[in-house]
Amino acid sequence: MLASSSAAAAQFDLFPTTPSPPLVGTTVVVDWWPEPCTCGIRLAIVGSSAGPHENRLICASCTRHRGWLSAARAALLLSTQNRG
Ligand SMILES: [Zn+2]
Repeated sequence: MLASSSAAAAQFDLFPTTPSPPLVGTTVVVDWWPEPCTCGIRLAIVGSSAGPHENRLICASCTRHRGWLSAARAALLLSTQNRG
């Protein structure tokens, strides 16, 4: 009796370790960068995850690797996308 209800509660995972990658291929304005890319723009393309890292960020102009997208930031971007 109690076992079934606790199993259902366990399905809620607030901190998934492997976020789904619906953002891959999306161009985002990276206004949180302290400085723009060396090519002068603040646009990045979201790439796939790699090992322990989250989604990579690649400069939309020069394809330079620009860092990693945190899970929190990815969630924020997704919520923005969903608003259309
Ligand atoms: Zn660049």
